[in-house]
Amino acid sequence: MIRAYLLLGSNTGDRNLLMEAARVRIGLLAGKIAASSALYETAAWGNTEQPPFLNQVIALDTTLDARLLLTTILSVEKSLGRIRTTQWAPRTIDIDILLHGDAVIHEHDLTVPHPALPDRRFALTPLNEIAADLRHPVLQKTIGELLAECVDTLSVTMVNDSR
Ligand code: ATP
Ligand code: CA
Ligand code: CA
Repeated sequence: MIRAYLLLGSNTGDRNLLMEAARVRIGLLAGKIAASSALYETAAWGNTEQPPFLNQVIALDTTLDARLLLTTILSVEKSLGRIRTTQWAPRTIDIDILLHGDAVIHEHDLTVPHPALPDRRFALTPLNEIAADLRHPVLQKTIGELLAECVDTLSVTMVNDSR
């Protein structure tokens, strides 16, 4: 069993409902959700003209390797109406693999740990809530240390504490 951390994001449609549907489908198809952060609202990153995101990190205990987990989360995105248009376009649901145990993967369509994790407050803040002492397998720093060093200025605000 491997502990993976996934980042969920939604910035169009019924964001709360989409996030919940994603968690249910991930739980059915990919493993057991062992922990989940609160929901955070975050200004859109990369393209600041679009609506704000809800973001959440979940800890998933899974028997799927990273590649199978990627296939599974892409199918969950598709089943929830994600249509890929331009990069960083508004999306019903985005699911990224932040970490997959200690795996370090550099393939054309799969990079683990997620390369942007240290640069994104909206990923580090919810991850820090549930895994502050987890050590990044490449950078060899804890999530708490990475958050303390993060220079991202986009605001990340906890919107509720109900899981
Ligand atoms: P970003 O990765 O910068 O957050 P994005 O999430 O908007 O951008 P997408 O359009 O959702 O990008 O995904 C594009 C591709 O990224 C996916 O089809 C997948 O093959 C690839 N990918 C590479 N590494 C990962 C990862 N760790 N988690 C999820 N997708 C990944
Ligand atoms: Ca993403
Ligand atoms: Ca993605």
